[in-house]
Amino acid sequence: MFWEKEIETISSSDLKKLQLIKLHHTIEKAKKSDYYKKILKKTKISTLKDIESLPFTSKQDLRDHFPYGLLAEDLTESVRLHSSSGTTGNPTVVFHTKEDIELWADLVARCMYMTGVRKHDVFQNTMGYGLFTGGLGFHYGAEKLGMLTIPVGPGNSKRQIWFMQQFSTTAVHILPSYAIHLYSSFQELSLDPKKDTRLKTAFIGAEPHTNALRVQIENLYGIKAYNSYGLSEMCGPGVAFECPQQNGMHIWEDHFYVEIIDPKTGQILPDGEEGELVLTTLKRSAMPLIRYRTRDLTRIINEPCLCGRTHRRIERIKGRSDDMLIINGVNIFPMQIEQTVMQFPGVGNNYRIEILKENHMDRINVLIEVHEEIFNGTLSKLDQLKNQIIEALKSECGVTPKVKLVEPESLPINEGKAVRVFDMRRNEEE
Ligand code: AMP
Ligand code: ZN
Repeated sequence: MFWEKEIETISSSDLKKLQLIKLHHTIEKAKKSDYYKKILKKTKISTLKDIESLPFTSKQDLRDHFPYGLLAEDLTESVRLHSSSGTTGNPTVVFHTKEDIELWADLVARCMYMTGVRKHDVFQNTMGYGLFTGGLGFHYGAEKLGMLTIPVGPGNSKRQIWFMQQFSTTAVHILPSYAIHLYSSFQELSLDPKKDTRLKTAFIGAEPHTNALRVQIENLYGIKAYNSYGLSEMCGPGVAFECPQQNGMHIWEDHFYVEIIDPKTGQILPDGEEGELVLTTLKRSAMPLIRYRTRDLTRIINEPCLCGRTHRRIERIKGRSDDMLIINGVNIFPMQIEQTVMQFPGVGNNYRIEILKENHMDRINVLIEVHEEIFNGTLSKLDQLKNQIIEALKSECGVTPKVKLVEPESLPINEGKAVRVFDMRRNEEE
């Protein structure tokens, strides 16, 4: 039931037929909302390509029509509300019918099953429960799969470890930044997760991270870590997920119609080119969204996957188009910095990027935790590492940062998605 062979290995032509039928339903349903009623009034869709004539929907549209403008069912049909993180002003709220919740749980169960976890696994969810979809989204999927599910929620590392040990947790859902932080709590307790837990699988996602960070997590814990992508506006986690090949995330095209556009011009880009992911829900009832601009930057990997699934893959998210930093006119994504910094074996668990104005010029400071033996080692070794990092960042990003190597565990962490970029330019100019 969780390996839906027919749908997961559907042929491209059958998928297109299915998508067209679902797209018709979505449009008819969306027309019931105040927002889409006007926009879709005269819409006629005969082929999938006709979707290109429809306008995009943005996060701002959701905010401007807060709270019920995009609701396409009577409110009494909704059983759940979630809200997206990190916004100012009106939050983005998303409604779910009972059927939406069921379909979402099936989707998350499909994702987890794909990686090899089964009913006999014990699943610990360290993500936040509440408005954030990471907690409840995985929770329902894991229960559907029949796993013993431990809803610990975020933080309290000692308690996390206690549960892992007492109940022989085998699979966790965890923020990549928290996975790294949790490892230091294992160390404080003189425990080694490889020997002292039964962990074998982690689902990591909800925030951008590099492959280097994933490999680090896999090595520290002796597990496989699978990238999990989603956003509240589509449902939450379950939108795209890595299979055992760990080479891009299958995006579930029976649930979502996928486009990649140039974020500046809105033009559709061919498979393989990097741009902004735009998604249309194909099965959602309470709040269908058409051509939703995710702001997430990725590209489609269109080669067949060795696992046999035919749903196309998206590459690891490079960042959000609104994350891009412009440093003295040069465009930089924070992930480029992470990727470069993580190559150095002496680099520890956390880093922070600060951007300031100095004599009207932008200045970028990168603070990087290093391992204890490096920090307490000779000054010349520390300087050597610092200079190597500066050179590498210069060549990757085209700007010369100031780098400060700091003690392990000295940079603050926050509960929830990692905040690593501090752009102080605006405050200073005001
Ligand atoms: P939210 O709706 O608050 O859960 O936030 C969704 C956003 O989190 C997405 O639009 C992405 O920017 C980010 N995100 C979620 N999963 C991943 C992932 N696996 N890799 C990178 N970014 C992610
Ligand atoms: Zn695959």
